[in-house]
Amino acid sequence: MSNKLVNKVQDTHFFGEFGGVNASISDSATYTFLAAKTMGDTFEGNTEGCYLYSRHSSPSNLNLAEALAQLEGTETANVTSSGMGAITSTILQICSAGDHIVASRTIYGGTWAFLKNFLPKLNIKTSFVDITTLAKIEAAITKDTKMIYCESVSNPLLEIANIPELSKIAKRHNIPLIVDNTFMPLIISAKKLGATIVCHSLTKFINGTNDTVGGAVCADNHFINSTKSVIDGAAMLLGPVMDSFRSASILKNMRTLAIRIKKHSENALYISEQLEYDGVSVVYPGLKSHRDYELINSLYNKEFGYGGILTIDAGNLEKANKLMELMQEKGIGFLAVSLGFYKTLFNAPGTGTSSEIPLDEQEEIGLSDGLIRFSMGLDYDIVRTYKLMRKCMVKIGLISKK
Ligand SMILES: *Cc1c(COP(=O)(O)O)cnc(C)c1O
Repeated sequence: MSNKLVNKVQDTHFFGEFGGVNASISDSATYTFLAAKTMGDTFEGNTEGCYLYSRHSSPSNLNLAEALAQLEGTETANVTSSGMGAITSTILQICSAGDHIVASRTIYGGTWAFLKNFLPKLNIKTSFVDITTLAKIEAAITKDTKMIYCESVSNPLLEIANIPELSKIAKRHNIPLIVDNTFMPLIISAKKLGATIVCHSLTKFINGTNDTVGGAVCADNHFINSTKSVIDGAAMLLGPVMDSFRSASILKNMRTLAIRIKKHSENALYISEQLEYDGVSVVYPGLKSHRDYELINSLYNKEFGYGGILTIDAGNLEKANKLMELMQEKGIGFLAVSLGFYKTLFNAPGTGTSSEIPLDEQEEIGLSDGLIRFSMGLDYDIVRTYKLMRKCMVKIGLISKK
């Protein structure tokens, strides 16, 4: 099954203008028309193969979008200049003043801040709910609710969304289920499991080289066309457009996504198992001790593993900071936000990637200040990495020397 998925992504190939093995990059903001009438038709959105202006679409962006649509199994996709550009334009396309959103309470800090602090300015309100308790989701839905929003595996607490059950609730209320699948490309086929729209930050695993930000919305033709409409499309009018050079480079990196994801997962599982054995408090979806271990096993595409993200609890912020500095010193990885890099990245979400969430709410959702999130790298010699990590943890007293 998942083999087929990778085949589809890898088979999505575009030759360059001169037979190059990589697609040509469209180095233009605007495009010429041979006939004036075609321009008018294109404005109305009904000329196949004609380009108008690169904020709307460009050949390079359409190529990347096609590969992403294959990845998520959607009719089509649209790429954006950042993950936030994808998420905000999707939400704004669907919601108007007076509308209501039901969202998971453990989501990416930027998305949380957009829902909590920005959307109320437009009189759009959000109820943040524990996504793992389905009854609470359903109870939060009102007559004004326009979507259920969640992450397939939540940031940074690694809660697993039961997409098939959430999808049933959404269908019962005739609203879309929007899933941010940034942590789990290839691992979770969100659309197949029942998501209506799948968003990605390409910045992370999909690009994998941390040289750019980027985003994508994968959905049906009707929705994607609506966001690109020159009349009232949120992507078209807010303008979070990706540059063609970037989309061409992200597409090239996507070719190795399957191999990378497997390695990230393999390394993360190894480190999680070792550290748990050492007595460290580890959260990783691939550990039997994970509260949603059964659920993830029923959802994921097995051969890609359980993903590259794990968290440990260092006890308190001081210890977490000490450990991260030490690990950086020893070359284990970088003290940096973001994920999906070839080197391991770590940060303390409470003061880093989730610092938008006020302290009392962090406590409520179970985000302790000693929490460290790891995005495990592609280390070829993960045993060496583990030994180094262990040494650092012994040094700060997190592991007692055996
Ligand atoms: C990083 C991230 C985003 C935001 O993406 P940008 O590319 O930084 O705009 C959204 N959701 C998740 C889960 C992320 O990790």
